[in-house]
Amino acid sequence: MEFLHDLTIKKFHEGLKKKKFSALEITKEFFDYINDKDKEIEAYLSLNKDFAFKQAEAADLAIAKEEDISELTGVPLAIKDNILIKGLPSTAASKMLENYTASYDATIITKLENEKAVFLGKTNMDEFAMGSSTENSAFKKTKNPYDLERVPGGSSGGSAAAVASSMAIAALGSDTGGSIRQPASFCGVVGLKPTYGAVSRFGLIAMASSLDQIGPIAKTVEDAAILFKSIAGKDKLDSTSVDAKYGDELLNPKLENIKKLKVGLPKEYFIEGLDDYAKKEIEKAIDKIKSLGIEIKEISLPHTKYALSVYYIIMTAEVSANLARFDGIRYSRLKNLEPRNLLDIYLKQKGEGFGPEPRRRAILGTYVLSSGYYDAYYSKAQKVRRLIRNDFDDAFKEVDIILTPVSPTPAFKIGEKTADPLKMYLSDIFTIPLNLAGLPGISIPVRKYEKNKELPVGFQLIGKPFQEADILGLGQFYDRIT
Ligand code: GLN
Repeated sequence: MEFLHDLTIKKFHEGLKKKKFSALEITKEFFDYINDKDKEIEAYLSLNKDFAFKQAEAADLAIAKEEDISELTGVPLAIKDNILIKGLPSTAASKMLENYTASYDATIITKLENEKAVFLGKTNMDEFAMGSSTENSAFKKTKNPYDLERVPGGSSGGSAAAVASSMAIAALGSDTGGSIRQPASFCGVVGLKPTYGAVSRFGLIAMASSLDQIGPIAKTVEDAAILFKSIAGKDKLDSTSVDAKYGDELLNPKLENIKKLKVGLPKEYFIEGLDDYAKKEIEKAIDKIKSLGIEIKEISLPHTKYALSVYYIIMTAEVSANLARFDGIRYSRLKNLEPRNLLDIYLKQKGEGFGPEPRRRAILGTYVLSSGYYDAYYSKAQKVRRLIRNDFDDAFKEVDIILTPVSPTPAFKIGEKTADPLKMYLSDIFTIPLNLAGLPGISIPVRKYEKNKELPVGFQLIGKPFQEADILGLGQFYDRIT
């Protein structure tokens, strides 16, 4: 088992090429380990053994035939349950989709299948990706591998916990307001939210379409870069995707170029309310970055204080539109509904299918879009969203990267915030502005942490649009000195 803990995409690839092991052997080991470990962590909602073995055999065959394999060939991955894999359940952790089986592959799944990656299973999440602790799942509560009494973060909590406990080499998550970065920070792993448009979302169960992005969760920044590179790119099935060019520097950054980057610390992000321990950890990260010879200066993002309010208007408005399609006719129907007529199907399916959080958000979203309130809320929020984006544009005239905390606290206790949604919402204050502005952001663990003893803290690097190479580059050099 020790061996599995050590595996990164990079090491796996080298071992596979040197024929130290086969993809099938490793896949079997992962399932044996998951069988045992996941009783405690509860990161997976479903496992895909038969399918995964076939994928692993295909990877081994490619190696036997001495085909040119990719770095992801045979790599066992965990996939968040809102990303569709044809023939497998995709519930988005909602009772609404409990009986749904995907009828097509997400574009990124097709891409990864072409590289012969292996999908171990689908991971737990907050229902429809709404939440920050994975406690909003309709099915189970995932535990934080560093402290089983604490949450793994959310909404991609299952993916982050799976990687942190070595139940997958890497994973995919989705991020609408922090759902990749915050669980990565809580679980001591790396999480990248790409620029809006960098990765196709075709086949992602939508939460808020102007904010959603899919991205990697991995053990190292280098692994995150490898996964990102293979899922990025324009897709004709997602009209918001963009043909951005990512060159060689994504995987092979040069220190002389990285040293030229200027890093900004926004004063609005280092405020009261930031937990002492988290603050001290972030300061360590800043010192280490300075030790690379990088210039750091204070900057200002003056509209930060509006970000949370703006997000909870725009996001809920889009949620109310996206959830409308779950009507008990399309996708799947709950068992034992016994509807009397069509209207009865709608009422019963929505009444029983949605948990409290999606319901709360759909109601709020319908309200902010209603004719009497549209101007007061929705349209005003759009204007302030522009101001938030302008703040970043201005800051990026002075610096190349912005460094901030990911979350005001390390992982909190299970149950600590469930009674008070507002308290839960506040924990996303540092991650949400990037989604509003469409910018790329990465969460990187400040250092290595010891399980059952310390709580991990991540710091966030924010890049210019489509400049993932900057934050992944600096991150890769940071990893080398930790
Ligand atoms: N935690 C945030 C929310 O509840 C973000 C969720 C996400 O990124 N999917 O909306």
